[in-house]
Amino acid sequence: MRITAIALAIILHVFLFGCAKICPKCEGIGEISGTCPICNGTGEVKAKCPDCEGKGYIEHSCDNCVGEGDIKCTYSKMYRCGIINDYTYKTECRGGRLIVTGSGENCVSATQYKNAKCPECGGDGIVTCNKCWGRGIYHEECPRCHGKGEAFIECSNCSGTCKVQEKCPECKGKGKI
Ligand SMILES: [Zn+2]
Ligand SMILES: [Zn+2]
Ligand SMILES: [Zn+2]
Ligand SMILES: [Zn+2]
Ligand SMILES: [Zn+2]
Repeated sequence: MRITAIALAIILHVFLFGCAKICPKCEGIGEISGTCPICNGTGEVKAKCPDCEGKGYIEHSCDNCVGEGDIKCTYSKMYRCGIINDYTYKTECRGGRLIVTGSGENCVSATQYKNAKCPECGGDGIVTCNKCWGRGIYHEECPRCHGKGEAFIECSNCSGTCKVQEKCPECKGKGKI
């Protein structure tokens, strides 16, 4: 009875360990290198563009008006006057009213501009920013996704290597068969 028990133990041991071979497919590691199923081996996946968060554009604070939407009126215009147009004067907006400067500032035609309402800002001294049209922000097409909102990014499953370690199907990850 006792001998039989030992024999059984030996048979069991041989069955479990002794006769087990190293798996030739994975060379005993239990894992094999396979193609990443997430990116199909390309290393990249199509995803929401990380640069624009899928919006397709990047919002900038307007640098022309520092995000204010309005800018100081900088209207100015040159005129010529005098009998042979030998004088010049410049009208400039100063807080909504025009000032006249130059050699021709005392010409008859110049007098109508003195302290006149600026034609550009209508006397306010400020004009709507022509870069952002008063919104204070402007949109630039996202250069990464060209406005599509989707871009190829590195596959997180394989870290862009295209390969993943997977359980050996031959030995089911045990390394031995
Ligand atoms: Zn294996
Ligand atoms: Zn984008
Ligand atoms: Zn602006
Ligand atoms: Zn003005
Ligand atoms: Zn991948």
